[in-house]
Amino acid sequence: MRAHVITFGCQMNEYDTLTIQSELVAGGHDLVDHPRDAQLILLNTCAVRGKPVEKVVSVLGDLRKEKAAGRDLAIGLMGCLAQLDEGREIARKFGVDLLVGPGAITDILPAIEAFEAARDAGAARSRIDRLDFRTDLVGHLTPPPAFGTLTGFVTIMRGCDHHCTYCIVPQTRGPEVSRPLAAILHEARAMRDQGVEEVVLLGQNVNSYGRDDPAVPSFAELLRAVADVGFPRVKFTTSHPMNFTSDVIDAIAETPGVCDYVHLPVQSGSDRVLRRMAREYRRERYLEIVAELRAKLPDVVLTTDIIVGFPGETEEDFAQTLALYDEVRFDAAYMFAYSARPGTPAHARFDDLPREVKSERLGRLVERQKHWSLEANRRFEGREVRVLVKELGRDGVHAVGHSDQHHTVLVPATQVQRMGLHTVRVEHATPHALYGRLAGTRHDAVALPLAS
Ligand code: SAM
Ligand code: SF4
Repeated sequence: MRAHVITFGCQMNEYDTLTIQSELVAGGHDLVDHPRDAQLILLNTCAVRGKPVEKVVSVLGDLRKEKAAGRDLAIGLMGCLAQLDEGREIARKFGVDLLVGPGAITDILPAIEAFEAARDAGAARSRIDRLDFRTDLVGHLTPPPAFGTLTGFVTIMRGCDHHCTYCIVPQTRGPEVSRPLAAILHEARAMRDQGVEEVVLLGQNVNSYGRDDPAVPSFAELLRAVADVGFPRVKFTTSHPMNFTSDVIDAIAETPGVCDYVHLPVQSGSDRVLRRMAREYRRERYLEIVAELRAKLPDVVLTTDIIVGFPGETEEDFAQTLALYDEVRFDAAYMFAYSARPGTPAHARFDDLPREVKSERLGRLVERQKHWSLEANRRFEGREVRVLVKELGRDGVHAVGHSDQHHTVLVPATQVQRMGLHTVRVEHATPHALYGRLAGTRHDAVALPLAS
């Protein structure tokens, strides 16, 4: 069939989409660039908050209309939403043909075959469901991205063993399983051979890598091994404060390719809220990790995730989050209003706060973050940073890339002859980006035309 995959959500889903696509090609299906040319459309979904679910529902609504108007189309719901009762209900409502969970990606071909067999036999359409957590997925090798891709993702572990009360992920992605070191290094080497300059190691809690399996190394050892593959840059996300041990900080400090950039979600500054969220650390422990990071990596860029308006969060609790901001001075933060997810303990046990309370607090936090992001970014003014320039910016005037420490960096497009790593002298900082000019270019930068 001519197939098209639409990806929603996080980088892990982008990585999973590569696996889905490679399975489709291995099964003799053709990938098409546009959904209108497809006979099979697969939605690789996200269910972490209500908004991404609404987006999926909106696309499914459009596709249902096209089917009703006579288009011969098969629709597959994949990813986190597929694994939930909520997803099954949506699939029923919108006439989805295939329901395949994130642990069953390698079941996609048999699912399509079963669908085609039923269709060819003239049977009334009934949905094909594949929702196991398959063990072969951890050793499965995902092919490298297309030639010319500068940033590559490698999932190092799947699932999550934590039980944060707001979060649906443990249900959708199952328990933690570390991928074998050999599989990770195989994918990393293939990427490097393909010209990838920056590899990002992915997992819900990357620093738990290896804890489920004595046969695989620790996360700190893995970081060093991946850096040895020869990438100019190694990044990783997401770290959990619970197991963020000193050996990981040492590996970052001692391994030149591993970037001084740590994304360490705190979620709240209030111990009372952290307890109700079932986060397994408290404010003081978080601050200890920050102190160790800054002592060993003086230039570290530290970012975080915050949930505002968790059920029962008082003004006093929220004040503690603001105070934590002032104490830590994060370089950047992903800030979310709490979104009640059916199937989570918080949804079952706690009453949601009024929407206005959540958005008013979110607005205040965003303002505070802007202030600290500007302060943090200003410390780079006048300095040289290494930037992986990847594309022409939306304004058509700047080329855009990311620094080693993950700042968005813009340089005049007229200066950029090639994509790849460049040295940039920073002239001006805003809360969201650094603006500068090229100071030097690595001569083996990837030769690609600057395309929009
Ligand atoms: N495993 C990572 C951790 O524990 O830090 C994060 C993974 S989660 C998919 C990404 C972020 O989404 C979380 O850090 C949290 O801030 C946010 N999130 C998860 N569930 C949420 C909910 N119900 N409402 C709002 N934000 C949520
Ligand atoms: Fe969700 Fe918590 Fe697991 Fe992160 S650690 S994926 S927030 S349950």
